Amino acid sequence: DRDLPLLQVRGLTAGYGAAPVLRGIDLTIRTGTITAVLGANGAGKTTLLRTLSGLVRPTGGRIVLAGEEIGATPVERLVRRGMAHVPEGRGVVTELTVEENLRLGGLWRRDRADAKRALDEVYELFAPLARRRRASGHQLSGGERQMLALGRALVARPRLLLLDEPSLGLAPKVTAQIMTLLRDLRDRTGLTVLLVEQNVRSALSVADSGVVLALGQVVVAEDAARLREDDDLRHAYLGF
Ligand code: ATP
Repeated sequence: DRDLPLLQVRGLTAGYGAAPVLRGIDLTIRTGTITAVLGANGAGKTTLLRTLSGLVRPTGGRIVLAGEEIGATPVERLVRRGMAHVPEGRGVVTELTVEENLRLGGLWRRDRADAKRALDEVYELFAPLARRRRASGHQLSGGERQMLALGRALVARPRLLLLDEPSLGLAPKVTAQIMTLLRDLRDRTGLTVLLVEQNVRSALSVADSGVVLALGQVVVAEDAARLREDDDLRHAYLGF
């Protein structure tokens, strides 16, 4: 149901050791929307994604995915429940081939036939990957690695895609292609995306909403259109 929030986060706290990084995050993410997660270096964007995907343990608060609390659920079970995380730096296994990397994305799937279908769909989506199935990860360009990381996440048929800095190191044209792809996936399949980006303009160009983090808290949560158009908001929180 597109009207129910897919993800609700309330008072989420987390960190590395004694110092808290997330200091009470509140978020409501509707199904089938793209949310840009913005904010200065060190604001906690990466830590937020890592906590949602189970890599960092919350120290407090609640995370509710499709109505079920997922506080300290192991990563593997979160993947089964529709969470996919593409980390900053992409996490492609460079020793493995393109095809082997993509198969990793389907490792936890019980429906093997659909895992195979999803893999074929990724090859349709990303022609360069289809051409280089047997190439190893370290032979790929930056753009191809980003496609591969995204493709691997899509083989898991996620409901919620957590993307950390997909534009990092990519040419503007490739970044634009990735943003268009996200929009298509949202429109065609109802995919829900949390998109962490330094590239504020390109993130807001596809996002439905935007949240700005500062010092581990949400300081703005707005329609992306308002963030694009409201000069005062942009100057105050996004610095342009
Ligand atoms: P950036 O755009 O620089 O990645 P960010 O908003 O994603 O910024 P985080 O990476 O979440 O911010 O970092 C938030 C804070 O947590 C920073 O002060 C950072 O130094 C600290 N931090 C991040 N990772 C670790 C870690 N593995 N161990 C200890 N501290 C960390």
